[in-house]
Amino acid sequence: MSNVATQVIDHFVSQVGAQAATWLQSCVHCGECAEACHFYEVTKDPRYTPAWKLEPFARAYRARKAPFAGVRRALGLAKEPDEAELNEWQELIYDSCTMCGRCTMVCPMGIDIASLVGLARKSMAANGIGPEDLFAVAEKSREVGSPLGVTPEKMEERIDWLSDEHEVDIPLNKEKAEVLLTISSIETMKYPQSIVAMAQVLNHAGIDWTFSTKGYEATNFGVLSGKADVAKVMIERIVAAAESVGAKTVIIPECGHAYGALRWTGAMMLGRPLPFEVFHITEYLAMLKRDGKLKLKPMDDAITYHDPCQISRRGGATEAAREVLDGFATGFREMSPTGNANWCCGGGGGVAAIQRATPLRLKVFEIKMKQVEDSGADIMVSACANCRQTLDGGKEHYKWDREIGSLVEIVADHLVKA
Ligand code: SF4
Ligand code: SF4
Repeated sequence: MSNVATQVIDHFVSQVGAQAATWLQSCVHCGECAEACHFYEVTKDPRYTPAWKLEPFARAYRARKAPFAGVRRALGLAKEPDEAELNEWQELIYDSCTMCGRCTMVCPMGIDIASLVGLARKSMAANGIGPEDLFAVAEKSREVGSPLGVTPEKMEERIDWLSDEHEVDIPLNKEKAEVLLTISSIETMKYPQSIVAMAQVLNHAGIDWTFSTKGYEATNFGVLSGKADVAKVMIERIVAAAESVGAKTVIIPECGHAYGALRWTGAMMLGRPLPFEVFHITEYLAMLKRDGKLKLKPMDDAITYHDPCQISRRGGATEAAREVLDGFATGFREMSPTGNANWCCGGGGGVAAIQRATPLRLKVFEIKMKQVEDSGADIMVSACANCRQTLDGGKEHYKWDREIGSLVEIVADHLVKA
C-alpha cells in the first residue's frame, strides 16, 4: 500500500470514536438506503448505494481497529484500499454524496452515512485526495475570506452599492449591535436581492443589527471539502466579529450547510461554547412573525417550498419556513415528499462546486421537476442560496417553465410599509 493510502487510512481510523465505530460495524447490507439516495434513484447504479460509498473505509476499519482485526489481518481477510482505489472512490465520497442524510432516515440500523462521508472526506483532504475545484474554493475562503473572492473591501463596495441602488439602510461595521447578520457569497455575487431583502425585513422589525467586515462569510467550504483547518478559521472569523460588536445573536442567511456548521458544530470546532445564539434566517423570520413584528400582505400565487437538507432534515428547523408561510402565502402547497423527507436539490455538500459532477447533478433535477409539477405550484422557493443556484442550473438546462425564488425575498416583497 502506498504511503498516501496508509496516511489516509491512519487518519480515518484515528478519527473513529465509539459512535462511528458502531455505525461502521452495524451495516446488515439490507440495501434499504439505496432508494433513499437521489443519485441511486435517478441512475439505478448500484455504486451509488449509500452503504457502498463507504466500503473501503469500513474495510480498512475492520482491518485496523474493529474487534478481531488482528485475526482478520492474520488470515488475510481484510485488504486495505490502495491509492488507486481511494482515487477511484473520490467520485463516491465527493461527487455523489451531498451529505443530505436522507439515507439515515430509512436505515434500520440508524447508520449516519453523511457523517461517515464527512470523516472520509477529512482523511482524503488531509492527504490531498479530492476534487481540485472544491479544494480551491476552500483555500480561497481561507486566503481572502470567501470562496468566491468577496474580500472585506469588495463586501464594503457591494453593501454601499446595494444600499444606494435599493434605498435601504444596510449597516456595516457598527460599533455595537445586538444582532450580527452574515451572508453567503452566492448571495453577494449572484443573488444580491437576498441581502437587500434581509436588510428590509430586519429594518422593518426595528432590529439593532449590523454586518461586519471582520466576519461576514457564513458558507464554510472547509466543512464541505473536509479541510478541517479552513472550517475552523471560518468559524473563528464570525465569532471574532460577533464578539467585537457585542452581538448576542448571529443570523445565518439563506444557506443550508452554513447553519449546521455554525449552530451544530461551531462550538466543537472553536473549542469553547459560542458566545451567542445562532438562528437561520427562516427561524428568525418565524420568531419576528410570532412576536408580531412582521406585518405581511397576503400572497396568493401557487407556491411550494423546497426544504434544504441542512436546515430541515439535518438542522431541525423544518417548521420555521411553514410558520412564515402560514396565513400569508394563501396559495402554498407542499411537495411530496416534503419536510424532513424532501429530496435534496442535488448540489449540496459541495457537489455544486465540483465541475465534473454537473451531469449527475442535472439528472437529479428530474426528481425536483416532477415533485413541483405534481404539486401544481408555479413557484418554488427555498431558503438556501446553494439549493437555489443548483435549482436555477437545472431550470436553465431543461428550459423548465416554473419560477425559483427565495423565502426571505418573497417576505420582503410583501412587507406592509409603515
Ligand atoms: S447522505 Fe444523501 S447523498 Fe449521501 S449517500 Fe445518503 S442519501 Fe445519498
Ligand atoms: S440501510 Fe443501513 S444497514 Fe441497510 S445497507 Fe444501508 S447502511 Fe447498511
